[in-house]
Amino acid sequence: MPPITPELSAEIGKRLRETRDDVLAAVRERTDSDAPEIAPNTHTFENEDRPQAEMISHNEEHLADHETALLHEIDVALGKLESGGYGICVECGREIPEARLLATPTVQTCIECQQQIEREQERRNGPPPTI
Ligand SMILES: [Zn+2]
Repeated sequence: MPPITPELSAEIGKRLRETRDDVLAAVRERTDSDAPEIAPNTHTFENEDRPQAEMISHNEEHLADHETALLHEIDVALGKLESGGYGICVECGREIPEARLLATPTVQTCIECQQQIEREQERRNGPPPTI
């Protein structure tokens, strides 16, 4: 018994592929338009070139990490759609509600587990709880 209907599977698959195309298009567009700016071979102020170049590359790296993670999530979700197991919470094994899947097709956990993960992340990364 598949956890999600064929209709939902088709819809999710379509959205995932669209999102992946969007990300790839955005990366390509930015890479193309940024390429001339990154080449610092113009005779301008040498001292001002470097911090700017560093800032751009840092920024790009940050975005690329985010996009890499998103593309990976999309691939995982597409793989599960094809091989089965999509729509099942990876933490507790319960079915994830359709509305949640449609809102965030790459989601891998139910709302309860997501909240628990976020609480744990806050505990690890954020300031200590002020209770
Ligand atoms: Zn769960």
